[in-house]
Amino acid sequence: MHCFICETCGTQHAPSPEPPSHCSICEDDRQYVGWRGQTWLTHADLQGRFSLRIEDDDGLLGIGVRGEFAIPQRELLLRTGGAGNVLWECVSLVTDEAITELKARGGIDQIVISHPHFYSSMVEWSDALGGVPILLHEADRDWIRRSSRHVRFWSGDVHPLSNDVTLVRCGGHFAGSTALIWRAPNRTVLFPGDALQVATDRRHVAFMYSYPNYVPMKTSDVRAMRERLDGYDYDDVYGYTWGRNIIGNGRAAVDASFDRHLRMVES
Ligand SMILES: [Zn+2]
Ligand SMILES: [Zn+2]
Repeated sequence: MHCFICETCGTQHAPSPEPPSHCSICEDDRQYVGWRGQTWLTHADLQGRFSLRIEDDDGLLGIGVRGEFAIPQRELLLRTGGAGNVLWECVSLVTDEAITELKARGGIDQIVISHPHFYSSMVEWSDALGGVPILLHEADRDWIRRSSRHVRFWSGDVHPLSNDVTLVRCGGHFAGSTALIWRAPNRTVLFPGDALQVATDRRHVAFMYSYPNYVPMKTSDVRAMRERLDGYDYDDVYGYTWGRNIIGNGRAAVDASFDRHLRMVES
């Protein structure tokens, strides 16, 4: 039995003797089946072919698969005061080196993931870190392809993890698309996954139902997200991948982007 990993989206699936017949994450409107057709790897295959980048990303430790593999997200270590060490997001490959690096920084207390595209090998990570909890929004539970007794769900629109960390359901891209807001001692940071996507200019964000397939987000969902985030101020916005971050004036950038988006779709 292997827990096969889809080569296009990077999602690890439940144990099976043969590769699954299809990947429902990739067949969904928000993703796509690889141009060579559906292909699979085992975690051992991935370990043999790829390594991890373990590097600073604007002041936070980031970990991501090096080179071209699936969606190029990176996970971040957030050393929070109240919620302990949070691993924000997840990637498909786990290595001993990465686990050693995280343990040297105090280990991980919980894994929190924004939405199903980044569930990737979350169970592999949880197990390698000693069975740490994985916190997901319950609205997206049907998208879990490999579950574990360590998965926990939260529900509703707001979920404080501590006095310095709050989860907000943004919705739109996925019903449970989640942003994490961390009030660190020296700055407050918004981590939106791709519920709102940091643009290439790193001064704006964009709102799409599907980024690879260019499917717009419903305007009612954009407005609902704006309302849910309205009560939070933040300095910086960390996007889904390396360097795709807005450092400074984050709230103003997001406000201007909501204004611009709504102006474009409504005029
Ligand atoms: Zn897939
Ligand atoms: Zn996504």
